[in-house]
Amino acid sequence: QSVKLIVGNWKMHGVAADLVEARALIESVHDVRADCRIALCPPATLTDRMRQVLAGGRIELGGQDCHQAPSGACTGSVSAEMLVDAGATLVILGHSERRGAFGETNEEVSAKVEAAIAVGLEPIVCVGETLEQREAGQAAAIVSAQVEGSLADGLSERPFAVAYEPVWAIGTGLTPSLEQIAEVHAAVRSAMIRRLGQAARRAPILYGGSVKPDNAAEILGVSEVGGALVGGASLKAEDFLKIIRAA
Ligand code: 13P
Repeated sequence: QSVKLIVGNWKMHGVAADLVEARALIESVHDVRADCRIALCPPATLTDRMRQVLAGGRIELGGQDCHQAPSGACTGSVSAEMLVDAGATLVILGHSERRGAFGETNEEVSAKVEAAIAVGLEPIVCVGETLEQREAGQAAAIVSAQVEGSLADGLSERPFAVAYEPVWAIGTGLTPSLEQIAEVHAAVRSAMIRRLGQAARRAPILYGGSVKPDNAAEILGVSEVGGALVGGASLKAEDFLKIIRAA
Protein backbone atom coordinates (compact mmCIF):
# COMPACT_ATOMS: atom_id res chain seq x y z
CA GLN A 1 0.00 0.00 0.00
CA SER A 2 1.34 3.41 -0.96
CA VAL A 3 1.72 6.48 1.25
CA LYS A 4 -1.56 8.31 1.83
CA LEU A 5 -1.78 12.09 2.19
CA ILE A 6 -4.64 13.34 4.38
CA VAL A 7 -5.13 17.11 4.26
CA GLY A 8 -7.49 19.22 6.34
CA ASN A 9 -8.74 22.41 4.66
CA TRP A 10 -10.16 24.70 7.33
CA LYS A 11 -11.39 27.18 4.66
CA MET A 12 -12.56 30.46 6.28
CA HIS A 13 -13.00 28.86 9.69
CA GLY A 14 -10.80 29.30 12.70
CA VAL A 15 -9.49 31.89 15.13
CA ALA A 16 -6.74 31.45 17.70
CA ALA A 17 -9.06 29.63 20.12
CA ASP A 18 -9.57 26.88 17.54
CA LEU A 19 -5.90 25.95 17.72
CA VAL A 20 -6.98 23.63 20.56
CA GLU A 21 -8.13 21.29 17.76
CA ALA A 22 -4.66 21.30 16.18
CA ARG A 23 -3.17 20.72 19.63
CA ALA A 24 -5.50 17.79 20.29
CA LEU A 25 -4.62 16.32 16.91
CA ILE A 26 -0.86 16.55 17.34
CA GLU A 27 -1.16 14.81 20.70
CA SER A 28 -3.08 11.91 19.15
CA VAL A 29 -1.26 11.06 15.93
CA HIS A 30 1.87 9.42 17.33
CA ASP A 31 0.65 5.92 16.60
CA VAL A 32 -0.76 6.64 13.13
CA ARG A 33 1.01 4.58 10.43
CA ALA A 34 4.33 6.15 9.53
CA ASP A 35 3.49 5.97 5.82
CA CYS A 36 0.52 8.33 6.24
CA ARG A 37 1.24 12.03 5.73
CA ILE A 38 -1.04 14.47 7.55
CA ALA A 39 -1.42 18.20 6.85
CA LEU A 40 -3.57 21.09 8.06
CA CYS A 41 -4.34 24.18 5.97
CA PRO A 42 -5.66 26.91 8.27
CA PRO A 43 -6.71 30.39 7.19
CA ALA A 44 -3.64 32.54 6.41
CA THR A 45 -3.94 34.48 9.67
CA LEU A 46 -3.39 31.31 11.72
CA THR A 47 -0.48 29.88 9.74
CA ASP A 48 2.32 31.15 11.95
CA ARG A 49 0.53 30.31 15.19
CA MET A 50 -0.32 26.86 13.92
CA ARG A 51 3.34 26.36 13.05
CA GLN A 52 4.13 26.88 16.72
CA VAL A 53 1.50 24.35 17.76
CA LEU A 54 2.71 21.75 15.25
CA ALA A 55 6.45 22.35 15.82
CA GLY A 56 8.49 19.17 15.98
CA GLY A 57 5.51 16.94 15.21
CA ARG A 58 4.54 14.99 12.12
CA ILE A 59 1.65 17.18 10.96
CA GLU A 60 2.55 19.35 7.98
CA LEU A 61 1.27 22.89 7.41
CA GLY A 62 -0.23 24.36 4.26
CA GLY A 63 -1.87 27.46 2.83
CA GLN A 64 -5.23 27.54 1.04
CA ASP A 65 -4.20 29.77 -1.88
CA CYS A 66 -1.41 32.12 -2.92
CA HIS A 67 -1.02 34.94 -5.41
CA GLN A 68 0.94 34.22 -8.59
CA ALA A 69 3.17 37.30 -8.21
CA PRO A 70 6.14 37.28 -5.82
CA SER A 71 5.10 40.65 -4.32
CA GLY A 72 3.43 43.85 -5.38
CA ALA A 73 0.35 46.02 -5.34
CA CYS A 74 -2.15 43.21 -4.68
CA THR A 75 -4.19 44.37 -1.69
CA GLY A 76 -5.50 41.50 0.37
CA SER A 77 -3.42 38.76 -1.26
CA VAL A 78 -0.78 36.48 0.20
CA SER A 79 2.30 35.44 -1.79
CA ALA A 80 3.87 32.00 -1.87
CA GLU A 81 6.95 33.34 -0.12
CA MET A 82 4.78 34.76 2.68
CA LEU A 83 3.28 31.32 3.25
CA VAL A 84 6.77 29.81 3.47
CA ASP A 85 7.77 32.60 5.86
CA ALA A 86 4.80 31.72 8.07
CA GLY A 87 5.80 28.05 8.13
CA ALA A 88 3.84 26.41 5.31
CA THR A 89 5.33 23.65 3.19
CA LEU A 90 2.24 22.93 1.06
CA VAL A 91 -0.44 25.02 -0.62
CA ILE A 92 -3.90 24.22 -1.98
CA LEU A 93 -4.37 25.85 -5.40
CA GLY A 94 -7.34 26.13 -7.74
CA HIS A 95 -9.95 25.07 -5.18
CA SER A 96 -13.40 25.15 -6.78
CA GLU A 97 -14.45 27.88 -4.33
CA ARG A 98 -11.72 30.05 -5.86
CA ARG A 99 -12.39 28.97 -9.42
CA GLY A 100 -16.08 29.73 -8.83
CA ALA A 101 -16.40 32.75 -6.53
CA PHE A 102 -13.09 34.35 -7.56
CA GLY A 103 -13.14 33.38 -11.23
CA GLU A 104 -9.75 31.64 -11.24
CA THR A 105 -8.88 30.14 -14.61
CA ASN A 106 -6.64 27.19 -15.41
CA GLU A 107 -4.00 29.68 -16.60
CA GLU A 108 -4.04 31.53 -13.28
CA VAL A 109 -3.89 28.28 -11.33
CA SER A 110 -0.91 27.19 -13.43
CA ALA A 111 0.83 30.54 -12.73
CA LYS A 112 0.17 30.04 -9.01
CA VAL A 113 1.65 26.56 -9.24
CA GLU A 114 4.83 28.05 -10.77
CA ALA A 115 4.97 30.66 -8.00
CA ALA A 116 4.55 27.98 -5.34
CA ILE A 117 7.24 25.65 -6.64
CA ALA A 118 9.63 28.59 -7.12
CA VAL A 119 9.74 28.94 -3.32
CA GLY A 120 9.63 25.21 -2.58
CA LEU A 121 5.96 24.82 -1.67
CA GLU A 122 4.29 21.52 -2.59
CA PRO A 123 1.11 22.36 -4.53
CA ILE A 124 -2.17 20.48 -4.14
CA VAL A 125 -3.98 21.33 -7.37
CA CYS A 126 -7.76 20.98 -7.22
CA VAL A 127 -10.08 19.99 -10.05
CA GLY A 128 -13.72 18.92 -10.19
CA GLU A 129 -16.90 19.03 -12.22
CA THR A 130 -20.20 20.75 -11.41
CA LEU A 131 -23.46 18.83 -11.12
CA GLU A 132 -24.58 20.06 -14.56
CA GLN A 133 -21.34 18.84 -16.09
CA ARG A 134 -21.67 15.44 -14.41
CA GLU A 135 -25.28 15.08 -15.52
CA ALA A 136 -24.20 15.92 -19.07
CA GLY A 137 -21.71 13.03 -18.94
CA GLN A 138 -18.74 15.39 -19.04
CA ALA A 139 -17.11 14.77 -15.65
CA ALA A 140 -13.99 12.97 -16.89
CA ALA A 141 -13.50 15.36 -19.83
CA ILE A 142 -13.87 18.52 -17.71
CA VAL A 143 -11.56 17.26 -15.02
CA SER A 144 -8.96 16.09 -17.57
CA ALA A 145 -8.96 19.53 -19.20
CA GLN A 146 -8.54 21.19 -15.81
CA VAL A 147 -5.59 18.92 -15.01
CA GLU A 148 -3.89 19.59 -18.34
CA GLY A 149 -4.49 23.35 -18.07
CA SER A 150 -3.58 23.81 -14.41
CA LEU A 151 -0.41 21.75 -14.00
CA ALA A 152 2.73 23.73 -14.73
CA ASP A 153 5.81 22.35 -16.52
CA GLY A 154 8.02 22.61 -13.45
CA LEU A 155 5.97 19.99 -11.62
CA SER A 156 7.66 17.11 -13.41
CA GLU A 157 10.61 17.58 -11.07
CA ARG A 158 8.71 18.46 -7.91
CA PRO A 159 6.50 16.80 -5.33
CA PHE A 160 2.85 17.75 -5.81
CA ALA A 161 -0.65 16.32 -5.54
CA VAL A 162 -3.88 16.66 -7.47
CA ALA A 163 -7.19 16.71 -5.58
CA TYR A 164 -10.37 15.59 -7.32
CA GLU A 165 -13.26 17.42 -5.66
CA PRO A 166 -16.61 17.20 -7.43
CA VAL A 167 -18.18 20.63 -6.80
CA TRP A 168 -21.55 19.06 -5.99
CA ALA A 169 -20.01 16.86 -3.30
CA ILE A 170 -18.41 19.73 -1.35
CA GLY A 171 -20.22 20.50 1.88
CA THR A 172 -23.35 18.65 0.75
CA GLY A 173 -22.98 15.23 2.34
CA LEU A 174 -23.22 13.76 -1.17
CA THR A 175 -20.40 11.68 -2.63
CA PRO A 176 -19.93 9.96 -5.97
CA SER A 177 -20.14 6.17 -5.99
CA LEU A 178 -16.85 4.34 -5.51
CA GLU A 179 -16.99 3.37 -9.20
CA GLN A 180 -17.39 7.02 -10.22
CA ILE A 181 -14.46 8.02 -8.02
CA ALA A 182 -12.30 5.27 -9.56
CA GLU A 183 -13.29 6.33 -13.07
CA VAL A 184 -12.43 10.00 -12.57
CA HIS A 185 -9.20 9.24 -10.71
CA ALA A 186 -8.10 7.06 -13.64
CA ALA A 187 -8.90 9.94 -16.03
CA VAL A 188 -6.95 12.35 -13.80
CA ARG A 189 -3.93 10.02 -13.80
CA SER A 190 -4.01 9.77 -17.61
CA ALA A 191 -4.25 13.55 -17.97
CA MET A 192 -1.35 14.04 -15.53
CA ILE A 193 0.81 11.66 -17.58
CA ARG A 194 -0.19 13.32 -20.86
CA ARG A 195 0.76 16.68 -19.38
CA LEU A 196 3.95 15.83 -17.46
CA GLY A 197 5.08 12.41 -18.64
CA GLN A 198 5.87 9.37 -16.52
CA ALA A 199 7.09 11.57 -13.65
CA ALA A 200 3.41 12.20 -12.91
CA ARG A 201 2.92 8.58 -11.86
CA ARG A 202 4.23 9.16 -8.35
CA ALA A 203 2.07 12.18 -7.40
CA PRO A 204 -0.92 11.23 -5.25
CA ILE A 205 -4.47 11.98 -6.37
CA LEU A 206 -6.59 12.95 -3.37
CA TYR A 207 -10.36 12.70 -3.23
CA GLY A 208 -12.29 15.57 -1.60
CA GLY A 209 -15.98 16.30 -1.06
CA SER A 210 -17.94 15.21 2.03
CA VAL A 211 -15.24 12.85 3.30
CA LYS A 212 -16.42 11.86 6.79
CA PRO A 213 -15.36 9.35 9.45
CA ASP A 214 -17.95 6.86 8.20
CA ASN A 215 -17.05 6.90 4.50
CA ALA A 216 -13.29 7.52 4.66
CA ALA A 217 -12.15 3.89 4.70
CA GLU A 218 -14.10 2.84 1.62
CA ILE A 219 -13.13 5.96 -0.35
CA LEU A 220 -9.45 5.63 0.62
CA GLY A 221 -9.58 2.03 -0.53
CA VAL A 222 -10.50 2.91 -4.12
CA SER A 223 -7.72 2.37 -6.67
CA GLU A 224 -5.77 5.57 -7.46
CA VAL A 225 -7.13 7.33 -4.34
CA GLY A 226 -3.90 8.50 -2.72
CA GLY A 227 -5.44 10.46 0.10
CA ALA A 228 -8.20 12.85 1.06
CA LEU A 229 -8.79 16.60 1.11
CA VAL A 230 -11.17 17.15 3.99
CA GLY A 231 -13.18 20.31 4.70
CA GLY A 232 -15.83 20.29 7.43
CA ALA A 233 -14.66 17.08 9.07
CA SER A 234 -11.15 18.49 9.57
CA LEU A 235 -12.33 21.20 11.96
CA LYS A 236 -12.74 18.84 14.90
CA ALA A 237 -9.71 16.78 15.89
CA GLU A 238 -11.90 13.84 16.86
CA ASP A 239 -13.49 13.57 13.38
CA PHE A 240 -10.28 14.26 11.47
CA LEU A 241 -8.43 11.65 13.51
CA LYS A 242 -10.99 9.01 12.56
CA ILE A 243 -10.41 9.82 8.88
CA ILE A 244 -6.63 9.68 9.36
CA ARG A 245 -6.95 6.31 11.07
CA ALA A 246 -8.98 5.01 8.13
CA ALA A 247 -6.08 5.68 5.72
P1 13P B 1 -16.15 19.17 2.72
O1 13P B 1 -15.27 18.05 3.26
O2 13P B 1 -16.64 20.09 3.80
O3 13P B 1 -17.19 18.67 1.79
O4 13P B 1 -15.16 20.10 1.83
C1 13P B 1 -14.36 19.51 0.88
C2 13P B 1 -13.39 20.51 0.39
O5 13P B 1 -13.74 21.41 -0.37
C3 13P B 1 -12.00 20.41 0.85
O6 13P B 1 -11.16 21.25 0.14
